[in-house]
Amino acid sequence: MSKSTLLKALVLVSLVFSGLSSAADGKKVMWRLAETWGPNFPVFGDSSKNMARLVKEMSNGRFIIRIDSANKHKSALGIFDFVKSGQYQMGHSASYYWKGKDFNTMFFTTVPFGMTTAEQNAWFYHGGGMELMKSVYDKYGIMSFPGGNTGNQMGGWFRKEINSAADFNGLKFRMPGLGGKVLGKLGASVQNIPGGELYQALSSGALDGLEWVGPFADERAGFQEVAKIYYTAGFHEPGSGLTASVNLDVFNDLTPAQQKIIEYASMATTHTGLAETLANNGAALSRLQQQGVKTMQFPDDVWDAFGAASKEVMDENMDDTLFADIRTSFESSLSASAEWLSKSDAYYVEQRQRVLGKM
Ligand code: CA
Repeated sequence: MSKSTLLKALVLVSLVFSGLSSAADGKKVMWRLAETWGPNFPVFGDSSKNMARLVKEMSNGRFIIRIDSANKHKSALGIFDFVKSGQYQMGHSASYYWKGKDFNTMFFTTVPFGMTTAEQNAWFYHGGGMELMKSVYDKYGIMSFPGGNTGNQMGGWFRKEINSAADFNGLKFRMPGLGGKVLGKLGASVQNIPGGELYQALSSGALDGLEWVGPFADERAGFQEVAKIYYTAGFHEPGSGLTASVNLDVFNDLTPAQQKIIEYASMATTHTGLAETLANNGAALSRLQQQGVKTMQFPDDVWDAFGAASKEVMDENMDDTLFADIRTSFESSLSASAEWLSKSDAYYVEQRQRVLGKM
């Protein structure tokens, strides 16, 4: 081979490789994301920002997601329609807000007596949860991914103690989703009031109590100024998953590498979001206690009443075949992970705290 032929061959090879590399990177992508949250919303808004940052970093700045908060797009609960129609390429919200459109979306956020975050991840990635989420969202032309997690949510803020299930009778309480239906069965007057109006509703007496998230988020909302009894672990949101949704046609237009970037940003965001709440909830709870907040736990017979009413609410939907399939998969995964967790992490934490004199 002559020198000039060799040179031509090398140029050709390098052109082919640069072409391949450019095809793998794809063209520069600019997306708009609509989120349910207002600007600078702790945990929730931090998760969407984190996803956008990770996508930018992993793509070397060639995949940019610009976020519009609810104050900009003016439709906090319009995310599903924004993404379905393609008005926004991406959305960040919680799947259970779409229960009015499709009841099965709730499983991918949380259900009463459902999964902790660790158990939910076991179901999503090793128990068929991701495939079931795809089967629910496919018909709407949406591809959904986990996009953060609040961890265990609190039983909520009350003005008077709950000593029996009968104390919920007539109580004006805010709790969205299936949890609210459960409290309705115990006789509560369940109100669905938007987050931004909760402080006012609690201070004016329009509400006797409410659940929001956990100490870190609740402290910023200021509920400790208007109610002093704070029940810790609640039955209704044991590990609420946030959801990142992408218009399916738009997702299919991405290169495989870009699709992977979205997938891995979603996984990392769920992981770091939970770390954020774990790192902040304990300290926030101590500060709340220093402000005169009394922390309590519901008595066992109240938990039993929550359990019986939750089963009733879940059973009411079993004539929907997909609901029944998802529930079977969900409960089978939960049963396996719970059996193990109760013998490992849960038991270890209990013994560690006892031995170290922390309980
Ligand atoms: Ca909540």
